[in-house]
Amino acid sequence: MKKLLSIYLTLSITVSIQAQNPIITNVFTADPAPMIYKDTVFLYTGHDTAATDAKNYKMPDWLVFSSTDMTHWTPRGACLSTKTFSWASGDACAAQCIERNGKFYYYVAITHKKDQNSKGGIAIGVAVSSSPTGPFVDALGKALVTNDMTTDKPHSWDDLDPTVFIDDDNQAWLFWGNGSCKYVRLKPNMTELDGPITAFTPPHYTEAPWIYKRNNLYYLIYAANFPETIDYCTASSPTGPWTYRGTIQDTVPNSTTTHPGIIDYHNKSYFFYHNGALPTGSSYRRSVCIDYLHYNPDGSIQKIIQTKQGVSPAN
Ligand code: CA
Repeated sequence: MKKLLSIYLTLSITVSIQAQNPIITNVFTADPAPMIYKDTVFLYTGHDTAATDAKNYKMPDWLVFSSTDMTHWTPRGACLSTKTFSWASGDACAAQCIERNGKFYYYVAITHKKDQNSKGGIAIGVAVSSSPTGPFVDALGKALVTNDMTTDKPHSWDDLDPTVFIDDDNQAWLFWGNGSCKYVRLKPNMTELDGPITAFTPPHYTEAPWIYKRNNLYYLIYAANFPETIDYCTASSPTGPWTYRGTIQDTVPNSTTTHPGIIDYHNKSYFFYHNGALPTGSSYRRSVCIDYLHYNPDGSIQKIIQTKQGVSPAN
């Protein structure tokens, strides 16, 4: 009995002190976008539903999970769907949610129908909710950015992957783009552009920007090359000039793409990404993982070590 109890305790402790990578194993998740609100981490993800042998994406909706220790993730449902946007068709591509004045603004990339507002291609929409887990509604009833509004790249999917950030001076910024990185100021209402769109191309840039500020330094993290690594630049202003700082993550197992999301939580820094490592996983059946991110004293980022065991509980 004592031995059984000992085995039980050992198993319980083993299970409870460590998460695993990928962190979610019952559905395929991609394009992680973590957000902290009232000391809870909300993790927004894409949702891969392509068949095992598929050679293309199938992403009907976006999922949200929450955690207060970075290891136990509670599913909070499919908080937003392509059907939410009457002007949209196609897949629920990468997205990011941010809180402002008690409202949650969810910027998504999605295919636009051919109509009077767009000739089609990937567009950026914004949904809004009074809760971090939704339900979200289309904030505008139309796209915030259509493919036709950026013309520096000819391909129809160059407006993928929105990332949003509110600076200390309350100026909100939207960055996005495939093939080139675009940015624009947002008005305080978060649903209107406030000025022209500027495009630039950081070294080796592919897609999936993630922008934030830490210790007065702006960080632009992004997917580079193909298959994708994660590289980054820093600057003293959100408009640059950006200094290339190198690769922080090598390619990931079994997925040509990956996608960064970074937060500080309870005095540790975390790096969210996706790979294709689950059984039957692939580039179209991806899974979100979390590993530690470490800064050097000068603000540069150490190389991410991809682990199977993931991170320990935050306390
Ligand atoms: Ca475009």
